[in-house]
Amino acid sequence: MEPTVLRNQFASDNYAGICPEAWEAMAAANSGYATSYGDDPWTERACRLLRETFETDCEVFFVFTGTAANSLALASLCHSYHSIICHETSHVETDECGAAEFFSNGTKLLLVPGSDGKVDLAAVEHTVSKRADIHYPKPRVLSITQATELGTLYSPEELRATGDQARRLSLKLQMDGSRFANAVAALGVSPSELTWKAGVDLLCMGGAKNGMAMGEAVIFFNRDLAREFDYRCKQAGQLASKMRFLAAPWVGLLENGAWLRNAAHANRCARLLADRAVQLPGVRLLFPQQANAVFLEMPEPMIHGLRERGWRFYTFIGSGGARFMCSWESSEADVTALAADMASLAAPR
Ligand SMILES: *Cc1c(COP(=O)(O)O)cnc(C)c1O
Repeated sequence: MEPTVLRNQFASDNYAGICPEAWEAMAAANSGYATSYGDDPWTERACRLLRETFETDCEVFFVFTGTAANSLALASLCHSYHSIICHETSHVETDECGAAEFFSNGTKLLLVPGSDGKVDLAAVEHTVSKRADIHYPKPRVLSITQATELGTLYSPEELRATGDQARRLSLKLQMDGSRFANAVAALGVSPSELTWKAGVDLLCMGGAKNGMAMGEAVIFFNRDLAREFDYRCKQAGQLASKMRFLAAPWVGLLENGAWLRNAAHANRCARLLADRAVQLPGVRLLFPQQANAVFLEMPEPMIHGLRERGWRFYTFIGSGGARFMCSWESSEADVTALAADMASLAAPR
């Protein structure tokens, strides 16, 4: 039986396939024998490229999923009696099935609000300072997402303020960067400015949504925090025995800038879709379009009609509305076709 092939979709950037650069790097890695468990030339090259990209001697680990990256990273920063402060719409809270709590043996997530998916720093301060007694789970980490779950971005100034706040409150700062590439491409600021120079201790950087088959990098800018992280990965089943195939796509994406081209392309497609959509009656942007996501409020019949025509998109992320994600594989023709269907379903003005 032939597998069902979906038309190009906007449900998630992980509906897309593997980009040519990642695919070719995997093919290139597939020649002969290599040492297992990360002791191979591809892993070494990928780590070196990440150190060059971030202009620092960071410690790097490759894992299979973003959930593993976030939850193992957070667990490594905490004891079970600590707490992790994160946004109420964060992936670690809403989409990881309690993995951070599980891998940390019960560390509690403390949720804070904030506009456009970004943590409100006053709420962070309040969460830390309202209690200092032994009965409260001791705040230890601030977790932020860049680009956010709502497709918005922390500006470099906001990141520095967040880093300063974290330091003042003696919190470690972890960044969920499953769409970090989209943030770098959109902001046009160096990866180092958006991470360790702003006070980020640890970045979970996404590969899958950027064009790989799978794989995320856990990057410790604060090397002391990486102690025994290799054991944590192994225990959680995240140490790939054929590590070269998890590492090689990073080489393919980083070596000639494909990671940023992919991200910039996805961001451009999202901009195009947002520009078209907001011209339609009854349609408005729910959050500023700043990376590769477009969140739209639209009339129910339009949502229904688009689904009937075979378009897929999520309506359960964030605070409702329809989410359209663009990827390296989105095309202007896809966006135009989607926008045309929206227009034909829009009520006449
Ligand atoms: C997709 C995503 C992840 C990773 O999810 P996995 O499905 O576990 O790979 C992490 N954080 C955010 C914000 C995401 O959108």
